[in-house]
Amino acid sequence: MAELTMETLVSLCKQRGFVFQSSEIYGGLSSAWDYGPLGVELKNRIQQFWWKEMTQLHENIVGLDAAILMHPKVWEASGHVENFTDPLVDCKQCKQRFREDMIPEENRVKRICPECGGQLTEPRKFNLMFKTHIGPVENDASIVYLRPETAQGIYVNYKNCMQTSRLKIPFGIAQVGKAFRNEIVTKNFIFRTCEFEQMEMQFFVKPGEDEKWFAYWREKRMEYYHKLGIRPSKLRWHRHGPDELAHYAKDAYDIQYEFPMGWRELEGVHNRSDYDLRRHSEYSGKDLSYLDEETKERYIPYIIETSAGLTRSVLMVLSDAYEEEQLPDGETRSVLRFHPLIAPITVGVFPLMKKDGLPEIARRIVEELREHFTTFYDQSGSIGRRYRRQDEVGTPFCVTVDYQTKDDGTVTLRYRDSMEQIRLKIEELVSAIRQSIREYKRVGV
Ligand code: ATP
Repeated sequence: MAELTMETLVSLCKQRGFVFQSSEIYGGLSSAWDYGPLGVELKNRIQQFWWKEMTQLHENIVGLDAAILMHPKVWEASGHVENFTDPLVDCKQCKQRFREDMIPEENRVKRICPECGGQLTEPRKFNLMFKTHIGPVENDASIVYLRPETAQGIYVNYKNCMQTSRLKIPFGIAQVGKAFRNEIVTKNFIFRTCEFEQMEMQFFVKPGEDEKWFAYWREKRMEYYHKLGIRPSKLRWHRHGPDELAHYAKDAYDIQYEFPMGWRELEGVHNRSDYDLRRHSEYSGKDLSYLDEETKERYIPYIIETSAGLTRSVLMVLSDAYEEEQLPDGETRSVLRFHPLIAPITVGVFPLMKKDGLPEIARRIVEELREHFTTFYDQSGSIGRRYRRQDEVGTPFCVTVDYQTKDDGTVTLRYRDSMEQIRLKIEELVSAIRQSIREYKRVGV
């Protein structure tokens, strides 16, 4: 199987309607991307999969959707105004900019540009937060930031959620939303962008029980990627060394995925200690401690954070699903092996011929199936060509109506991965597809 390159992935995403360059007709805006018809479906489904996993399947986790703009003091309390910086270096010769911590060790030590060999400047601290103003007057009093992470919206609402939902520790709050970072280097397509989406769940625990819950969430989060159908051999853990730990973290692990450009972070699972709630208590003057009604103990909860990139997950899912498969007849087919629960289209429906009443029957089937699944009707080109087009966008099931359908009310159901075809009654389609989704296992894993 040919190795997937980032160039192949970018061009496939454009051609098949997953991701387009932002403002393309104006020459594009670097590092900003738009999700096309199939991309938005894929992104929404990954989000729904995560949301169900984190909220519906846990009775002690509730959801939240906080505003992007927050009181500027939030970012002082969180430490972002002071600490959310990257070390920026410039090449005096080719004028390129780099994050110092991302250039090879040798270049860092010798202060030599990794691109042209020119001399690098000393590192400067660069704050990644986007700053703007509320209202017509641009002064210090009107400064607001575009949130660089969704987590702080959860911390400042922790008491609201706890009291209104009558939650007791341990409990969690989940949120999906946009975050913004003025990244120094935005390479690798949608991997690192200035505007992106995060899926975060913050879990509030009793101090002393934090390590137990930290281990629990590490296990759960890896399980989640396996459930999503991601190849386990492409996933691994990376534990932060003392020099990597963020200012708030007691301990931190990343789940990494082997992207076309190598192993990179996909999700962070962090033990944030009581740093966040303690700081927000100090800066807001509000008591954010928790009273355990049974033991009458009062304490500031520790927080275990699971922080995944949604847009980065789209890239991961696409990289993982892509396959150029050599068929027994010598042909190659391009296929995206999405888990059926997140495939942008679940069922393709085709009439074998564009005549003799077959399109009408196929349309009736589409009407019925679309109540249950995202369904796509296609009558153009040979049937083999239509199957290939659906393989290319990762549609797991195709239904074909032929002349026999008129006689006995049966159709062909074709499976994307095995290319196996079975014959069944139209009335049996919904339950057969549902069952295949429930029992889905990726081939060759
Ligand atoms: P890095 O060190 O690579 O800049 P980080 O460790 O600061 O990233 P976190 O703050 O832990 O990242 O963010 C949690 C998750 O949010 C990441 O695992 C990633 O999936 C996603 N994420 C962070 N920054 C970006 C970005 N610029 N573009 C896309 N996704 C991002």
